[in-house]
Amino acid sequence: MAHFVIWNCLAEDYAPIRPLGPHQLASWCIQHGYNVKVIDFSHLLQHKDFIEINEKHIGPETIGIGVSTSFWHPSVRMKKAKGSQKTNTYTTSVGDQVGHSNDPATKRKLFDQNFTNMMAAPNRTEEPFWVINARTELERKYPKLDWVMGGSQSHYGNMEFNWKKIHGFAEDAFLKYLDERSDFAGVRKDFDIKQSNRAYIGNNLSIGSNEALLMEMGRGCQFECSFCSYPLIGKKKGTYIRDYKRIEDEFLYNYETFGTTKYIFTDDTFNEDMDKMEQLAKISSDLPFDLKYVGYHRLDLIWARKAQKDLLREIGLVSPFFGIESFHPEASKAIGKGWNGRMGKEFMEELMNDWKDEITFELGFIIGLPGETKENIQETWDWLVKHQPGYWIFQALYINQHEKPGEIQMSKFDRDAQKWGYKFPIPGNGLYWKQGNFNSSTANKACVEFNYASNEFVKPAGFRLMQLTAIDEDFKKIQHTKQKDINWEHMERKTAAFAYNYAKKQIYGDNYYPGLEAELVDSGE
Ligand code: SF4
Repeated sequence: MAHFVIWNCLAEDYAPIRPLGPHQLASWCIQHGYNVKVIDFSHLLQHKDFIEINEKHIGPETIGIGVSTSFWHPSVRMKKAKGSQKTNTYTTSVGDQVGHSNDPATKRKLFDQNFTNMMAAPNRTEEPFWVINARTELERKYPKLDWVMGGSQSHYGNMEFNWKKIHGFAEDAFLKYLDERSDFAGVRKDFDIKQSNRAYIGNNLSIGSNEALLMEMGRGCQFECSFCSYPLIGKKKGTYIRDYKRIEDEFLYNYETFGTTKYIFTDDTFNEDMDKMEQLAKISSDLPFDLKYVGYHRLDLIWARKAQKDLLREIGLVSPFFGIESFHPEASKAIGKGWNGRMGKEFMEELMNDWKDEITFELGFIIGLPGETKENIQETWDWLVKHQPGYWIFQALYINQHEKPGEIQMSKFDRDAQKWGYKFPIPGNGLYWKQGNFNSSTANKACVEFNYASNEFVKPAGFRLMQLTAIDEDFKKIQHTKQKDINWEHMERKTAAFAYNYAKKQIYGDNYYPGLEAELVDSGE
């Protein structure tokens, strides 16, 4: 029996991955004597199986069930919405999903849904249907359970149920909550990322060797880009990186226990520190396996510290995410990434030349920054199509002038948008900005158009590439296949088979024979 059960999901239909937050929380509480069960891929499990797995862990000692909202995604409701069921209203990567269908009619429908969707007000989150259905049934059977919500969307309200909410990095708050509910009166030491241990330590995890696991090398970022509202930015060097012995221990434990060789590093900036790069290159070369990883990197830091070109490869880099935001001199300067506007394209070409096919790139751009016109964006898009770095995506500049609930951090733009010439002409609407060449609406529309057009060219890279490796081992092949040529229905079917087998292993144990996977994967091929 578990003291607490957490429902985890990435909320995508074609990539089984286990987000880190719930495992990190579970690990911290397990280390303090609680039995916390994380159910992964919750959104992909059949309702009956999902209920059965929950019930395996619910008993007299169970305090409650928690949900992580960080990856709740509109596609969950959009794709599954029927009749009068509402669709979700929150989206971040407008226009991107339209490439995930080979059928022109579905593509068009997804485009329209995305477009409508992104025009709706953000800051509204609602429970996906699988949460509503499962909670309704379990709450009826177990009326004494607490229901707890955490994760980055837990601040927002458009919910069907009442939830106890725990915001932000929750190790201390969640342990305190469990202690209070268990009448534990002892003293606890505060969580310290530097001393953080293994994350995936729960019982009966059923982690396969193909899966990429997530890992944080540290928690925080030394920089303070103007548009960035992540918490823990502007940190001092050396104050937020984990003890290297513990990192090495986690690599070895995961390899020996699950066969894990592939990782998604979640650090806000992975390559900010040369000492960290050298230490990790040493750890990687000592490991008994060939480590492969993706993560957030800064391009300018590789340029400034050229030794990183080799070090990152030695650590095992497959596909970095670069938040370029803009190649335009004025726009990039306004957000504190001026180097990208001066040298970004040139150095990207140099890296592509040096790293060749071995490493591909995921690039992020923002539309709506000061001084940049639609023609400038078109130039960037033309450069991307010409040079084919891998995957890229445009997102509209998000400024939120409304008072933010809870602990949500404000970016410099949120606090001081007028300094950069942003105006908010609609009284009471602190989300609709206007500046020079764009307003928030035209910026969103341009994103949809550019992202939609990009689907002809982009290939899975960065995070998506690692996600897909769980169901298709040969990531080198996917890495060099255009998204439009990927059979997404096949990926969804493989994902469904993966989730089915996960559910059966959760119910019957890890010796469950995955016969159906082969059947499902083979069918129609
Ligand atoms: S955008 Fe990235 S590099 Fe800039 S402050 Fe935010 S996390 Fe740090």
